Amino acid sequence: MRIAIAGGGIGGLALALSLHHRGIACEVYEAVAQVREIGVGITLLPHAMRELAALGVQARIEPLGIENLESVFFNRWGQFVYREPRGRHAGYPLPEIGIHRGKLHRVLHDAVLERLGPDAVHLDARCIGVEQDGQGCALRVQDARGAERTVRADAVVACDGINSALRRQFYPGEPLAFAGINTWRGVTVHRPILTGKSYLRIGSIETGKMVVYPIVDDVDGQGSQLVNWVAEIQRPGAAMNDWNRPGDPAEVAQLFADWRFDWLDVPRLIATASQVFEYPMVDRDPVRRWTFGRVTLLGDAAHPMYPRGSNGSAQALIDARVLADELAAGGGVPEALARYEARRLAPTARIVETNRTVPPDFIIMKADALSGGRPFAGSIDDLVTQDELRRISDDYKRVAGFAPEDVAGKPLS
Ligand SMILES: Cc1cc2nc3c(=O)[nH]c(=O)nc-3n(C[C@H](O)[C@H](O)[C@H](O)COP(=O)(O)OP(=O)(O)OC[C@H]3O[C@@H](n4cnc5c(N)ncnc54)[C@H](O)[C@@H]3O)c2cc1C
Repeated sequence: MRIAIAGGGIGGLALALSLHHRGIACEVYEAVAQVREIGVGITLLPHAMRELAALGVQARIEPLGIENLESVFFNRWGQFVYREPRGRHAGYPLPEIGIHRGKLHRVLHDAVLERLGPDAVHLDARCIGVEQDGQGCALRVQDARGAERTVRADAVVACDGINSALRRQFYPGEPLAFAGINTWRGVTVHRPILTGKSYLRIGSIETGKMVVYPIVDDVDGQGSQLVNWVAEIQRPGAAMNDWNRPGDPAEVAQLFADWRFDWLDVPRLIATASQVFEYPMVDRDPVRRWTFGRVTLLGDAAHPMYPRGSNGSAQALIDARVLADELAAGGGVPEALARYEARRLAPTARIVETNRTVPPDFIIMKADALSGGRPFAGSIDDLVTQDELRRISDDYKRVAGFAPEDVAGKPLS
């Protein structure tokens, strides 16, 4: 059996490692011509780390990132709302890690080349379409000069992300779902904020929201960290941010001009970023099928979700393991792809919906509702108990598959 994997992002590379571990041959076809450590931060929750541990790369990843101690929520006036310990500090057997996305990608990419060989990943190989017959699939691949070739495989797995070309073949004309929420992302060299291991959410998409967490320690020999931040705001009727356009730090800082707290100067954090990337916050309505005979979808190509729960990579990694398990179980390729879909479609559709309606930052929206959208006098405890807010957080963990009981138990293989 030979599997062609379209897309060498987190999901595609994890699938290559999972298939190889089960003795199934595969090759990855990735659109970009060069692997470079670009991008900003990503948070790996304990269920993502469980999958990465099973892929044998946990020990490489942990030293490259920062282990979160706590998650802390504030309203847009910088008033404390809620705090909880995270990862090992919350009793999980695995950590929660903030890491540079490029470094995570490099670890996965290197592992694939080491284990599957230098020819396992084809760069400058944009997948543009797939045909199939009773015997197998023909994946059409194009290089940057427009030269086309066809690759034969027993199955094709579309791991080509939120703007998947292969998904488009099965769902032509399907729109991205955009509700007026735009985001900007950047990294800034900054002194440690709070514990220096704190994952911060400030405000909500309605008031403007900042997510801030460190991803590299001591970048200047004087204890400064590389701090990842995401700015988000919902403005009805707003045009969609352009993935291909760099953002202007000064323009973004302007949106948060009066967010100056004792513990963080938000406009300064943004304005001193080395580079800002624009993203629209988009997802797609869940679909009823990912599998079409010998072709299936995985990761963001299958279930793109709002990045409001730090959870998309974990879902792509779980997809990869489940799909590899089903292919290894035998009984025909289309049947294996159908069983994978049956196991993964409903749980991920539920996360897509929950990320739209009750993501973790609902905690701050609830505090805002209770305070009438104004700063509160005194303490959050006068409005709502920490236990009540913890229930929102715990409910999200259950939906997303990282409640403590989901991650406890024997390591996966
Ligand atoms: C702003 C933002 C913040 C996020 N933060 C987090 C977080 O903190 N934690 C978390 O777990 N998740 C986070 N996510 C989600 C996470 O990044 C995705 O869920 C995850 O990357 C999905 O992996 P994937 O392999 O499916 O897609 P991708 O990682 O997008 O990889 C797709 C790959 O396919 C390639 N490709 C595209 N088109 C083609 C083609 N036609 N042919 C061949 N190759 C192609 C691309 O170059 C890319 O390498 C975030 C997402 C966004 C947008």
